[in-house]
Amino acid sequence: MIDEMILIDLHSHTSASDGMLSPTELIDRAIEKEIAVLAITDHDTTAGLCEAQQYNQHLTKPLILIDGVEISTRWHSYDIHIVALQIDANNPVLMDFLDNQRQLRDVRAKEIGVRLAKAGIEGAFEGASELANGAALSRGHFARFLADSGYATSMANVFKRYLSRGKTGYVPNNWLDMATAIEVIHQAGGIAVLAHPTGYKLSTKWLKRLVAEFKQAKGDALEVVLSQQSIDDRNKLIALSYQHELYASLGSDFHFPGRFSELGRGMWQPKDVNWVWQMPNWVATVEPNDNIGKQ
Ligand code: AMP
Ligand code: MN
Ligand code: MN
Ligand code: MN
Repeated sequence: MIDEMILIDLHSHTSASDGMLSPTELIDRAIEKEIAVLAITDHDTTAGLCEAQQYNQHLTKPLILIDGVEISTRWHSYDIHIVALQIDANNPVLMDFLDNQRQLRDVRAKEIGVRLAKAGIEGAFEGASELANGAALSRGHFARFLADSGYATSMANVFKRYLSRGKTGYVPNNWLDMATAIEVIHQAGGIAVLAHPTGYKLSTKWLKRLVAEFKQAKGDALEVVLSQQSIDDRNKLIALSYQHELYASLGSDFHFPGRFSELGRGMWQPKDVNWVWQMPNWVATVEPNDNIGKQ
């Protein structure tokens, strides 16, 4: 039955942040994977959206392409990511907010470089910057540079050793708080989605607290379907979305093709879930739109 559904992926990255495909290449890959609805959600930047929309518009069978952004925020001492969907990327309040986010990223990236240098790793800032090639610098760029330079066997291991909370290269986050980001998203006409809620290594008690406070801060939806997740985790997130009257979203968080990562991978649409595209203010339409969300 799943084959009959339209494939939807509402969380993905391009080379405008720490993804490896250009916006055009991402669209091509989405077509190849038969994705019908795609949101591009780069970290704290909308720089990839214009190229993607222009390229998509000229295709014979364009995707439903949703303008998005993934915003880093602070909640207690955690880095919490909020995916914004259907934003007006030209909204001045959002543009100012994202400018500031990128300044915070620059400051943080320099500090990460200093910390790594103290730990004997020279040239990390320069190496990460070269990989970023003008894009907003992310820890993902540092991870790639360190893995390529042989400091660890994989990007995940770089995070474990150097970049996760409490490790040598981790800079305590200085993002703005979650509620401020949600307010800005709403001002730009967007829908605020709590990204990968099970990805923050929170205890069950803290995860519940996060979801409750996200709702209190006027958040709209939870990402309940992720690329690599257990059925238990998925069910737990669906239950939390019900409990807090939040809509549900889904996203692969695609950065580059890999053994375990692919655009549209694992994007099931479980039954009886209140999806974001059923929200009254959802505007992107899909033809035939009566297929969406049905099993
Ligand atoms: P930042 O937004 O700069 O704090 O970087 C977060 C990004 O780092 C995420 O979006 C991922 O792309 C990447 N990342 C985080 N944790 C891991 C991990 N364990 N393995 C590989 N990449 C990771
Ligand atoms: Mn990333
Ligand atoms: Mn994220
Ligand atoms: Mn992401």
